[in-house]
Amino acid sequence: MVDKIESDICIIGAGIGGLTAGALLTKKGYRVIIFEKERLIGGRALSFDTSSFTLENYKDLLSRFKMHVPFSEPNLETIFKENMLEGYKLDLGYHAIGGGVLSNLNSILSELDDHVEILESHVGFIKDDGFDFPFLSRTDKLKILPNIFRLLFSSEKTMKQLDSVSMTETIKKYGKGKMKLILEIFSRSITTVNNLDRISTGEMFRTQRNLYRGSKPVGYPKNGLSSIHQKLADFITQNDGEIHLEKPVKKIIFDENKATGVAVENKEYSFKTIVSNVLAQDLFNIADEKYFPKEYVKNIKSLKGTGSLCAYYSLKKIDSNLLGKTFHFIERNIGVDGNDAVGMIDFMIALPESGLAPSSDYLVQSYIICTPDEAKDKEMLNTLRELLDKNLEKLMPDFHSHLKWAIYPAVWHLDGVAKTIDNTKLEIKTPVQNLYIIGDCVKAPGIGINCSLNSAKMLCDTLFSSS
Ligand SMILES: Cc1cc2nc3c(=O)[nH]c(=O)nc-3n(C[C@H](O)[C@H](O)[C@H](O)COP(=O)(O)OP(=O)(O)OC[C@H]3O[C@@H](n4cnc5c(N)ncnc54)[C@H](O)[C@@H]3O)c2cc1C
Repeated sequence: MVDKIESDICIIGAGIGGLTAGALLTKKGYRVIIFEKERLIGGRALSFDTSSFTLENYKDLLSRFKMHVPFSEPNLETIFKENMLEGYKLDLGYHAIGGGVLSNLNSILSELDDHVEILESHVGFIKDDGFDFPFLSRTDKLKILPNIFRLLFSSEKTMKQLDSVSMTETIKKYGKGKMKLILEIFSRSITTVNNLDRISTGEMFRTQRNLYRGSKPVGYPKNGLSSIHQKLADFITQNDGEIHLEKPVKKIIFDENKATGVAVENKEYSFKTIVSNVLAQDLFNIADEKYFPKEYVKNIKSLKGTGSLCAYYSLKKIDSNLLGKTFHFIERNIGVDGNDAVGMIDFMIALPESGLAPSSDYLVQSYIICTPDEAKDKEMLNTLRELLDKNLEKLMPDFHSHLKWAIYPAVWHLDGVAKTIDNTKLEIKTPVQNLYIIGDCVKAPGIGINCSLNSAKMLCDTLFSSS
C-alpha cells in the first residue's frame, strides 16, 4: 500500500548531515520527514549519557557503527558492574570539530538564529622531552606561513591540478625543516590517513582553507555533540517537520529512472525528493543497483573510509597546564600503512565546563590514525594502544597513578569516504532523478563533520536552484 505524505522531502538518516539538511530545508519552507534506524539521533557523531547504558547496550551500539572496544582498563564488565561511567557523556570515539567558533557549524546554526558554545584550542606538539604549545612559534610562522599561504590560497584551477598530486610529492618540493613536519602531520590529521602517497594535495589544502574560517583550529561543543543534534532536531520538529526514530528505511522505491518513495516497516510512502544520509557504501542495501549506471555502482563499491584507535581516559588529577589544550604527535616507523602514524590528545574536554564528566574527574580523549583493516587487527591495535599511552605519559608521566578507567574504541568507518587520490568522491545529485546523497561521503569542503555540514548546505543550494 502506498501512503501519500503531505511532505516534500524524505531524508534517510538523522546523522549530523541529515539533521542539518532537515533544519535548513525546513527553514526554507519545505516539509521534511526524517526516518532514522537507531533510537538516538546523531549517527556517527553521536554522544550519549553512559549512565543509562548497560554493557550489552554499549557493545551493541558500537557494533552498529562498525566499532568495538579491543581494550579497556579495568575490563568493560567491571567498568559497567561498578557504575564507573556514572555521570559521563561519551561519543562513539574521539571527536573534535575543525575550525573553532566561526566554524561551518556556527555559521549554519546562525541561519537558524541559534548557536552552540564551543570550547576551542590551538594545537601543540608532543616531543620526547615535553611539548610545544602552540605548535608554531612566532618565528616559525614568519618563516613558514608565506609558503603555506601560497598553497592555501592558490586558485581553484591550481587546486584542481593539485588534486592528483600526492602529499609525498608536495613534501618533497616544499618540505624543509619544520615545514616538512607540519605538512606531514597536518595532512594526516586532516584526512585521517597515514599514507602520504594516498593523500591528495588539492583536497588537503582545500580542507585546510576551510578550517581558516575559525578562530582556533579545533573545537568541541559544551555538553557534547548531542547539544548540536538536539538544536537541529528541535528546529525541525517545531516547524512542522517530523523525525521518526527506530524506523529504518528498508528500500527506496523507483519508477524507471526516478526515485518516488521509500518503504518503512510494511508501508510505502511517496515523496517528491529523497535524500540519503546513509553511508554511501551502504546505499545498495536499500536501493536496487539496477537503477544506477554500472560505473556509478562500481565506484561506490570501491570507496574506502578511514579508521582509528581512540582512547578515553578518566583521571582523578590533571596538570593544570594541560587543561583546555590539544596536542598532535607523530610516531615513526611503526609498520602502519604509510609507515608513520599521527594522533592527537585532547584536554579541552577535561575542562569542567565541557559538561562531560562528574565534577570529581577529568576526561581526556585521544586517537591514532590507522586504516580500516588495521582497526580490526588485534596485534596492530595493541601497538597503537601502547603509543597512545606513551604519548599521554610524555605529557603526564604519572598518569597511570591517576587513572580511574580507560576505554579504547576502535573504528573502521570513521570517515565515510577517505579524501584520497584513489577515491572518486560522489556528487550530491545522483544519476537517478529526485535522489540526492549527503554526508561525509560526498564531494563537499572539509572532512568528517564539516564535510557533512557543507554537503547539507550544498544540497539546499542544489534544490533551491532547481525549484
Ligand atoms: C569514532 C569516530 C570518531 C570520529 N572523529 C571525528 C572527528 O574528530 N572530527 C570529525 O570531523 N569527524 C569525526 N568522525 C567522523 C564524523 O563523525 C562523521 O563524518 C559524521 O558524523 C558523519 O555524519 P553523516 O551525517 O554524514 O553520517 P552518519 O553519522 O553516518 O549518519 C547516517 C545516519 O543514517 C542512519 N541510517 C543508516 N541506514 C539507515 C536506514 N536504512 N534507514 C534510516 N536511517 C539509516 C544511521 O543510523 C545514521 O544515524 C568520527 C567518526 C567516528 C565514528
